[in-house]
Amino acid sequence: MIGTRALKVLSVASTLFIISAAGAAQVARGRSSQELNEYDQREQLANGKGWGAAHEYSSSVTKATADATLTRSDGAEPRGYIANPGGAVPPSPITYHGGPVMLGTTNVYLIWYGDWAEDRAAQNLIPEFVTRVGGTKWFNINTTYNNKAGQRVTNAVHYAGHAANTSTYKTLNDANVQSVVTNAIDSGALPKDAHGVYFVLTAPDVKETSGFCSKYCGWHTHMSLNGTDIKYAFVGNPSRQCANACEAQTTRSPNGDAGTDGMVSTIAHELSEAVTDPDLNAWFDSAGDENADKCAWQFGAMFAATNGASANVNVGTRQWLIQENWVNATKGYCARGL
Ligand SMILES: [Zn+2]
Repeated sequence: MIGTRALKVLSVASTLFIISAAGAAQVARGRSSQELNEYDQREQLANGKGWGAAHEYSSSVTKATADATLTRSDGAEPRGYIANPGGAVPPSPITYHGGPVMLGTTNVYLIWYGDWAEDRAAQNLIPEFVTRVGGTKWFNINTTYNNKAGQRVTNAVHYAGHAANTSTYKTLNDANVQSVVTNAIDSGALPKDAHGVYFVLTAPDVKETSGFCSKYCGWHTHMSLNGTDIKYAFVGNPSRQCANACEAQTTRSPNGDAGTDGMVSTIAHELSEAVTDPDLNAWFDSAGDENADKCAWQFGAMFAATNGASANVNVGTRQWLIQENWVNATKGYCARGL
């Protein structure tokens, strides 16, 4: 689907990136492995990364107030950052920390950031996956997670809308990503929806400076926007910057678009975490790993896709290579479906 609704004002820093530098320092970033936790701690202690310092932000407009209470974050880590390769150490169980899960149908919104001209296929493939993933055996794994009242995540996902942000600015930090979401909502391009997960999808030439490609392939978090808890995620197209890190298959992939096929696995990862740990205070293990983190880059039994690539699930009419997810039953285990 190419005909996206454009956001209204898209000239760079002055209007788009409205979050304050102070707010930028509070935005949760998405990483999860031990290395990444250490990275976070270093960063918070030393504040050496200069979050938000690269650009001028107007402090007078701070609609996107970051939640300063966040103590942990998540990410889909690049290959090589797997905390437990080969299962050398038995994985710890995932435990509940008292926060909410997402109940009922989860609405997914896609925000296409940047110039997607070189990967138009993404704008068909990703919406198709999002449209079809609800009700699958793969997403059903998330129904093994419940809230304090025992209510479980529902195996239902609705592709609820999309927007385009055609800013030509090619370098984003976490606060910028948050502003992209805020702008999409405040402009009216997308509704303000507490049952939604907003994905900021960046074009192949866009950088995310908090660690896209080096520390994560995607991340999810949440913010309070005028009293509504907004869940959102970042997933970048890795094709130009880090195919080896964020694509399982860098040449031939099930849908003929390695960058997008890589993104879909990361989107699936972040979506699963968003519904089971939307406010980063529900389901994760003693290492801080959420459900999808525990199975990152594990695919289980694969089969040959029509084009000869490897795939492991059918979603809708397509074949995909989607990472496994953690089943929250007995001691727990990674699976492709339930
Ligand atoms: Zn993750």
